[in-house]
Amino acid sequence: MTVHKPAARAPLMSLDDALASLLGRVAPLSASENVATFEADRRVLAQDLVSALQVPPNDNSSMDGYAVRRADVTAPGVVLSVSQRIAAGHVAEPLRPGTCARIFTGAPMPEGADAVVMQEDTQDVGGDIHGVHINAVPQPGQWVRRAGEDVTRGAVVLSRGERLSPAGLGLAASLGLAHVPVVVRPRVALFSTGDELVMPGEVPPQDMKPGAIYNSNRFFLRALLQRLGCEVSDLGIVPDRLEATLAALKTAADHHDLILTSGGVSVGEEDHIKPAVQQLGSLDLWQIGMKPGKPFAYGSVNRDAGAGASAAQPCHFIGLPGNPVSSFVTFVLLVRPFLLKLQGAQTPRLKPVMLPAHFTVARADKRREFLRVRRNADGGLDLFPNQSSGVLTSAVWGDGLVDNPAGATIGYGDRVPYLSFAELLA
Ligand code: AMP
Ligand code: MG
Repeated sequence: MTVHKPAARAPLMSLDDALASLLGRVAPLSASENVATFEADRRVLAQDLVSALQVPPNDNSSMDGYAVRRADVTAPGVVLSVSQRIAAGHVAEPLRPGTCARIFTGAPMPEGADAVVMQEDTQDVGGDIHGVHINAVPQPGQWVRRAGEDVTRGAVVLSRGERLSPAGLGLAASLGLAHVPVVVRPRVALFSTGDELVMPGEVPPQDMKPGAIYNSNRFFLRALLQRLGCEVSDLGIVPDRLEATLAALKTAADHHDLILTSGGVSVGEEDHIKPAVQQLGSLDLWQIGMKPGKPFAYGSVNRDAGAGASAAQPCHFIGLPGNPVSSFVTFVLLVRPFLLKLQGAQTPRLKPVMLPAHFTVARADKRREFLRVRRNADGGLDLFPNQSSGVLTSAVWGDGLVDNPAGATIGYGDRVPYLSFAELLA
């Protein structure tokens, strides 16, 4: 990777500074609720989960086989009579010396037994005698899962601020928790702006007027918000009139934690979102040194005095660029961490992996670029040929982004930082 000196131009805000500034303006929501563990996927824990028991609750077998006292298995081939049969969920009796117990995976170890011999290492004696040849001398504790080896009593199993994953739900359930305390869902009002926008289903493709396009941002933004645990009020396309915009922002501010819009934040654009937010609160328009996604707006909208407990604090406002890929990329890199912090989650640190580029970028850009790429079968990355910020196909074809520093070219085979969508969209 060769780094060239960027051309001198109007200074852009770095993405890192934009993120730090954004995160500096958000305080975690303090309210929490108990939700069914079944419903808690991706929610953020409001309290540590402390185990009231040990998991597993007692020593148990990790194999189908025979529980033995090792002292009785002096050599391979020893014959032991089978004195009991223990299935999972049943209670074992102490193991009589000189005998073994038929045991199944998950069944409690009988008192006195100190190892399990898997059934593949045994052979029925046959005839009328209920006994087996033990063909292998077991190691101490062989095929025994120890009580508490997963979780000890009193341990913090999942911490406050952790976002629950499917495995986390299972772990909470293993502690006997049918409900878990989580931070309330952020309430987000979503608007699209742009007179060219038409909702799919309203006008069939053959009847679209010249210049009209379908509103695509609304669909992925809503899905992205929902994945982050937000309660979304989708206010659709706000009519392009100042009064309507003011009214929509005012009502939304009272009942939401964030108003998110797309479109109309480019410099010099004539639209009503900017003056309306300025009139009702404050607005900063940022030019971020990233591609796609240069224009970005952060602001706040004051709440009505009657908005209850939340009236003292203004509602957050974020304006994303209208170009679909810009909107998508700024959401995952800026809005996602913002919403996670709002829920009290640890702010995610991006963990790029270095992978070889199976493409070249000959012309350096003065902005930090997030290239839509896809891992190939040879362990490298392919580049989507059209990196335009309007080409949403690139984000569907791709499975991640290459984070290419400002002013850097990429040679074939160079190792480049790759961020997977699996991580960015989780
Ligand atoms: P803007 O940021 O409003 O200047 O819009 C930049 C580009 O994105 C324009 O080509 C818009 O037509 C397009 N655009 C804005 N909003 C949307 C949307 N919701 N869905 C699809 N394209 C959009
Ligand atoms: Mg627009």
